[in-house]
Amino acid sequence: MPETKTYTGGCHCGEVRFEVTADLGRVVSCNCSICQKRGALWAFVAPEHFALRAGSEDLKDYQFGKRGIHHLFCPQCGVGAFSRGTNPKGGGETIAINVRCLDDVDLAALTLAKFDGRSL
Ligand SMILES: [Zn+2]
Repeated sequence: MPETKTYTGGCHCGEVRFEVTADLGRVVSCNCSICQKRGALWAFVAPEHFALRAGSEDLKDYQFGKRGIHHLFCPQCGVGAFSRGTNPKGGGETIAINVRCLDDVDLAALTLAKFDGRSL
């Protein structure tokens, strides 16, 4: 489904809710140390295409390694529905949406792009 659409999404308990306009034509499956454990599938959007609707004051931030990415998660249910990072290709902030946390998305219909984050 290579089409830009507006989706709603959030964590499991509903504390964290957001709205995002994203193209799910390219969804990334990464094998880095954290993605391997989390099993997240990612779509990347510019900050202006993302709006946090609930839970901003509750989010916990996990960082490791070079600390370039804020792996945000809900302290109540533990789900990390999105992360904030700086685009390594230059430019500003990028929001990484965990596609598994979007409402009404048929995960089986997505084409996954493998990313070798482990080798970075
Ligand atoms: Zn939650």
